[in-house]
Amino acid sequence: MADVFSTRKRSQVMSRIRSRGNRATELRMIEVLKAWRLPGWRRHYRLFGSPDFVWPREHVALFVDGCFWHGCPAHGRVPSTNRHYWHKKLAGNARRDKEVTSSLKRAGWAVVRVWQCGLANNNAHRSALRIAKVLARQATKIASSNALR
Ligand SMILES: [Zn+2]
Repeated sequence: MADVFSTRKRSQVMSRIRSRGNRATELRMIEVLKAWRLPGWRRHYRLFGSPDFVWPREHVALFVDGCFWHGCPAHGRVPSTNRHYWHKKLAGNARRDKEVTSSLKRAGWAVVRVWQCGLANNNAHRSALRIAKVLARQATKIASSNALR
């Protein structure tokens, strides 16, 4: 993908695409969750790293990671202008994502990260399937740990 934006335009574009809490992406995720009948999620649930969606009962945290901000292997790229700044910024985001994931896992949460591009029509079924599998696994885990009590 060529860098089609000037520096000023790019910062305008980027300021509208937030790294977390991107409304359009979240709404698209909701559509997918509804289409695949994966209920039980909450938004704005207070949890470390502010996951976009949380299933409190199953202990599942779902992040929808923007391709640019979180460095998707297919679409993530460092802009050619202000290269140093962006490199640092994007590397920092990736590091933070890893820290958040491992910290949540240590606290007993299952973490699913879906790329923004994983919500496109032709990819959404794969993302939904991943989420469904994790939810099922967690539900089983919780049911069996309750049975032991
Ligand atoms: Zn992507």
